[in-house]
Amino acid sequence: MLRCVPDASPVHLLLQWFDPRADLLPWRATRDRYAVLVAETQLQATPVRRVVPYFREWMRRWPAASDLAAADVGDVLAAWHGLGYPRRARRLHEAARWISRHGWPDDDRLTDLPGVGRYTADAIRCFADEADVIPRDTNVNRVLARRFPGGWPGTPPGEEWAAGQALMDLGRLWCTARDPACERGCPLRPGCPAADAGTVREVTPPRRRQGRYEGSMRQRRGVMMGALARDGRIALDRDPEAGRSLVDDGLAGVRGQWLVRAGADGG
Ligand code: SF4
Repeated sequence: MLRCVPDASPVHLLLQWFDPRADLLPWRATRDRYAVLVAETQLQATPVRRVVPYFREWMRRWPAASDLAAADVGDVLAAWHGLGYPRRARRLHEAARWISRHGWPDDDRLTDLPGVGRYTADAIRCFADEADVIPRDTNVNRVLARRFPGGWPGTPPGEEWAAGQALMDLGRLWCTARDPACERGCPLRPGCPAADAGTVREVTPPRRRQGRYEGSMRQRRGVMMGALARDGRIALDRDPEAGRSLVDDGLAGVRGQWLVRAGADGG
């Protein structure tokens, strides 16, 4: 969507470039705080394309915080399976219970919610409330460091939501850590300090790759969580170490010689 551009400042170039209809991500169609909380929790550490069907199914099944709060934690964890890092689901469930019991905290107390850190709190303010707050995840911080080294110059009134989304898209798709598209059409290339100085990669070096997934504890836990989601239980002696770590994290319970879904152990 082309907007009226009163000047060629990088903020206006960014807003002119951003087209919310170009990428119909379902969480962009809502300004509901709970939906934004769900999306942002799922998007932590999981790629956008993988999250889309999970988000749709989640919102169909638990469309409000009160619905999620009333859900069985074992069902919640089973629905999460495939997104990875299931502690996020546990914390999201706790947050829904908190909201259901107390209502939403004050704007400056959103981090009181279980699992909600500074970034997620700011995302709720920007993407649900359309407040003048820039949520800063790794991608946005990279764009700011490279293109706005003097700091974010401010958002034009009424463009708060679009500015936050545009920065996310630019960092995710163009100003990436490993392959920044400076000379391949980046809309913020004119006057970009890092590109002009040839210091793009020095400004924010690529993150280290994660260790191998095959054979890791993460994979072993994922196997156990998959069996719990599918069958409801798995023999504890299949992988006692992984099973114990899931129990310690509140992601599973023990009944006799079985690892069972959280909440199904009678505890
Ligand atoms: S020109 Fe390069 S460094 Fe500057 S914002 Fe674009 S991709 Fe990032």
